Amino acid sequence: MSTPTVAAIWHYACFVLALRPFLNQPGDGRLHPRIPAACLSWALLIGTILRVSSANRLEWLARSADRKQLDLDRPFGDDALAYFTERLDATVVRHRAATTLKLAKCNKVFDETAFIGLAIDGTAAGRTTKDACPLCHPIKDSAGHVVARLHYFTLISVVGAGMTLPFDVEPYKPGDSEYSAGKRLLKRAVSLLGPRFANYVVVDGKFATAPFLHTADAVNLPTIARLKDNLPELAAAVEARFSQQPPKEILQHGADWVEVWDAADFDPWSTLEWPTVRVLRYRQHKPNGSVVQADWLTNFPTARLSTRSFFKLAKSRWEIENQGFNDAKNLYGMEHIQHHHPNSLVVNWLFLLLALMIERLYRLRYLHRGVHSTLTSLQLKDTLWLNLRPAHANTS
Ligand SMILES: [Zn+2]
Repeated sequence: MSTPTVAAIWHYACFVLALRPFLNQPGDGRLHPRIPAACLSWALLIGTILRVSSANRLEWLARSADRKQLDLDRPFGDDALAYFTERLDATVVRHRAATTLKLAKCNKVFDETAFIGLAIDGTAAGRTTKDACPLCHPIKDSAGHVVARLHYFTLISVVGAGMTLPFDVEPYKPGDSEYSAGKRLLKRAVSLLGPRFANYVVVDGKFATAPFLHTADAVNLPTIARLKDNLPELAAAVEARFSQQPPKEILQHGADWVEVWDAADFDPWSTLEWPTVRVLRYRQHKPNGSVVQADWLTNFPTARLSTRSFFKLAKSRWEIENQGFNDAKNLYGMEHIQHHHPNSLVVNWLFLLLALMIERLYRLRYLHRGVHSTLTSLQLKDTLWLNLRPAHANTS
């Protein structure tokens, strides 16, 4: 195995993932660019992998480290990055992320027997006390005064297939809603990935609304959604039946044992145009004695999805929380605003997700060939830093 270096990742991204044309032409909308788009687009990607989350630190990196090793042509200022991301066409980045996922699927990156899922969920990031941009939602104190602002968006990720790969975001303004943004995101994802890429959609209870479920029906994807109290009729019918029955099966899940109930003949609520609703309840017993119970609904027919698989697919929703939001925010700086402009926010998030995709594919599939053990993302990041030379060391 060759030592992981920035140059090795650049080579992998350009030639294995075929990203070089994208780096050169990432949707650059600048009229008279002085700094090549390839330099700035690669800076955004490698900056994320090196966990340099602010534009100031990226500027510092491009000045202080050996740029030849970083595959960066020349130094640039944070203002150049701001000007670049304000004018960049996010559509081009979204297309490239989807193309990379399709390539990954062709290259058998995902577990072959798995159902490939798309998880969608919403979050907020980029808290600021500066002047509002069109995407800012005000945060008010108890007296109604605006004390800060925050940006809300939905995220979509590949889940359930052995590797979590978040790939697109859809922001929403005040007055718009999380599930409307989720609907737009799902439609766009299926149009970019094609109708046969994924096998199901998995969402939290707040997306278990007839309009969202009908959107998934329209793109021919079965949905798995958490059933909560926002659907009181169905929740009551499920409780009335399952609480009176013994579990259908007992499953082993790691060290836990799980009681499961599964029935496919519940009545839909009045606005839902499904003939019936299938519901799974699991009661998971952990070795320490704690018990977790949850209900999930779906339109997957029993013949296509066993009870065990229904349980597994429901659990895949956690990937968007853990390997999606948590990693993007805590490790790669998704909370931080590089440049407070609506287009820059979206473009920076999209580059962050593309960087995360490159990092995971490189680390978990490319480096991890044969008998080599897997590096953690922290080990990879540290190794990359250890192999960087300062700018003055380059005497060539
Ligand atoms: Zn804003």
